[in-house]
Amino acid sequence: MVELKNVSVTYSSGVDALNHVSLKINDGDFAFVVGSSGAGKSTMIKLLLKEIEATEGTVVVNGYNLSKLRRSKIPNLRRTIGIVFQDFRLIPSMTVYENIAFVLRVIDAPKSYIRKRVPYVISLVGLQAKANNYPNELSGGEKQRVAIARALVNDPKLIIADEPTGNIDPELSYEIVELLMGINACGTTILMVTHEHDLVRHFGGRIINIAKGEIVYDDIMEGEVLYEETIAPGVDEDMMEDADEA
Ligand code: ADP
Repeated sequence: MVELKNVSVTYSSGVDALNHVSLKINDGDFAFVVGSSGAGKSTMIKLLLKEIEATEGTVVVNGYNLSKLRRSKIPNLRRTIGIVFQDFRLIPSMTVYENIAFVLRVIDAPKSYIRKRVPYVISLVGLQAKANNYPNELSGGEKQRVAIARALVNDPKLIIADEPTGNIDPELSYEIVELLMGINACGTTILMVTHEHDLVRHFGGRIINIAKGEIVYDDIMEGEVLYEETIAPGVDEDMMEDADEA
């Protein structure tokens, strides 16, 4: 759960990056955060990770009240959050498997758990065939799938995806959002920052629009789901026509 109550951030330069922002994202929700460059989106992400402090107001993330959270406890907060970046941030000298396993090794997870969990998340993102490949052997869409598996491996309550489709082909962008939505359907809260309006219009859902540090829109928008997607798998169109004629 993410809750901002009357939150403002003023940088030491005097820039007001967020002004009296209030918003709540419940466990299990999926929300798009949209807004033009300089609107305050990155500032909001940095707040949620406690990389910066609110100048005013309260920020609660996954049960942690961030203004009261001691520095020594910040790693506990961050373990409840998985992050997906626009530029993937994979380690080039490590295979897909190692990039993901690394997250668990850093927190001293038992080897037996790593051996089970890593192949499982690789299969969730559909990359079984690429587990032993290096990042430079993958397409942009595949790299982002690895990054999503890495964000997921520690079973976070919340995934923050910061422009996850910014560096991949537009047609693959839809698959990445569908993958995030599938993960969300299994219970993980997802906050996806994007400025790709086509994607947001296509999928719809909760849209939070930030402009000049303020929330100017926060509501559910209906998506443009295509009819053919509602046909059950395995049922082809001829069968549908036969059924209509019968
Ligand atoms: P977005 O991610 O939506 O592009 P940001 O949160 O990065 O927006 O920026 C919001 C505002 O805060 C902008 O005016 C930006 O120039 C300013 N800003 C961002 N980071 C800093 C910083 N470290 N110091 C001073 N001003 C900053």
